Amino acid sequence: MSQSTEEREVDVAVIGAGTAGLAAYKAAAAVTPNVVLIEGGEHGTTCARVGCMPSKLLIAAAEVAYEGRHAARFGLRATMNVDGRAVLERVRRERDRFVGFVVESVERIDERHRLTAYARFLEPGLLDLGDRRIRARAVVIATGSSPFVPPVFAELGDRADVNDDLFAWESLPESVAVFGAGIIGVELGQALCRLGVRVRIFGKGGRLGALSDPVVRDAALRALRAELPIELDAKVASVRSVGDRVLVDWEDEEGHTRVESFERALIAAGRHPNLNHLDIERGGVTLDARGLVAIDPTTMQAGRSNVFLAGDVNHVHPLLHEAADEGKIAGENAARFPDVRMGRRRSPLAIVFSDPQMAVAGDAFSRLAGRGAGFVTGEVDFGDQGRSRVICRNRGAARVYADTATGRFLGAEIAGPSAEHIGHLLAWSHQQRLTIDQMLAMPFYHPVVEEGIRTALREASAKLAASR
Ligand SMILES: Cc1cc2nc3c(=O)[nH]c(=O)nc-3n(C[C@H](O)[C@H](O)[C@H](O)COP(=O)(O)OP(=O)(O)OC[C@H]3O[C@@H](n4cnc5c(N)ncnc54)[C@H](O)[C@@H]3O)c2cc1C
Repeated sequence: MSQSTEEREVDVAVIGAGTAGLAAYKAAAAVTPNVVLIEGGEHGTTCARVGCMPSKLLIAAAEVAYEGRHAARFGLRATMNVDGRAVLERVRRERDRFVGFVVESVERIDERHRLTAYARFLEPGLLDLGDRRIRARAVVIATGSSPFVPPVFAELGDRADVNDDLFAWESLPESVAVFGAGIIGVELGQALCRLGVRVRIFGKGGRLGALSDPVVRDAALRALRAELPIELDAKVASVRSVGDRVLVDWEDEEGHTRVESFERALIAAGRHPNLNHLDIERGGVTLDARGLVAIDPTTMQAGRSNVFLAGDVNHVHPLLHEAADEGKIAGENAARFPDVRMGRRRSPLAIVFSDPQMAVAGDAFSRLAGRGAGFVTGEVDFGDQGRSRVICRNRGAARVYADTATGRFLGAEIAGPSAEHIGHLLAWSHQQRLTIDQMLAMPFYHPVVEEGIRTALREASAKLAASR
């Protein structure tokens, strides 16, 4: 056999060294020492390099800028000047620190177990790494996802950016058209706006952040619109590059034709699983009509095959903590294959670091409404909520959902202050399978934002009582 086709046999091959891949590697290595971790790109994970961490760093600066500019509400006088270069430098400096920790953890893995290559399948269990082949008893695919850039933006060339590019900007542009009102579009769009960039968000399909409850979504939209123009279903006629500008023609909600010119476009139109270059079908796995792989979310297994998909690549819950959990489940099952076991899944929790923050804990409204479950709602409007008003964050609303038959708390959607924390309390209550009355029996201090959630819980409790 020539050197270029050297073949190595392993128990488990993990493709991708992001959050899911690292968790899978660790879990598999706890069962068998014969595991390899294959990474084609840069180490450091999407979360640390271009995802969760740099976006939250940008948002942190934006929040300070916003609070400074609005200090007069408290009778305070402050002048706020944004130094875009310095803001972005801090984002990168802190980001690089987080990336450094991840890279160090990768470097602690014995070199014999980490390979640098883009892997693709030749046949079930056989991977081509270019200069060598890996024959694996089971394979974990943890290749993550990439920004989806619809073809309509191709014409914009280097005027169109995705999140990865934004964190490399040297300075802040004068204006940005943000395409997409999902989590990334809203977080980054609002942060840029608060840092003094003229921003307009063009959404599609009525989506806003992570929310599916129309009452909560409308409250969030009203709050966001007080700061920046945002349309949830923009009828964009054309996006063109004219000179060094991006020209957007669209029809606004009143039916008027509008044209606006921007320095840059930020495309936040969703993310696609990185499956394209894997030749996954040769690995014994079939793609569905959308180009996705159906997996069992309790085992991460693709059909009955020896392939497991963890993290963003499986398109189930594209969130960091889910990627880590899925990696662990996939790694353990791959190492024990064909003895495949159900792993522990936690109650759903998604958070958007906008202002108002958004959170979905437990079952989302759309899921409950979609399955026609018998449930009641309880609502709070944060406009008049005591603590929220004290801190000038009285924007948004929340709704909780309760099972009519059992009184159990089913889930909640929030757009309001401290949603990142309240979302946790609600997800924990959901996982503990608490009833609304058990939740109301717990302490609520005064004056706190949680009292607003108590208002919603009380309304749900009253509706439950009336339905009995
Ligand atoms: C802007 C932004 C903000 C976010 N904010 C949050 C947040 O606040 N909270 C949250 O929970 N989540 C957030 N996320 C989502 C979170 O970052 C992801 O869910 C998580 O990083 C996914 O991890 P992963 O392991 O699946 O993928 P990744 O970390 O992307 O790892 C995949 C790895 O596979 C490698 N790879 C790909 N193909 C191959 C191949 N053929 N061979 C070898 N290697 C390959 C890639 O180079 C990469 O290193 C955010 C994402 C973005 C983009």
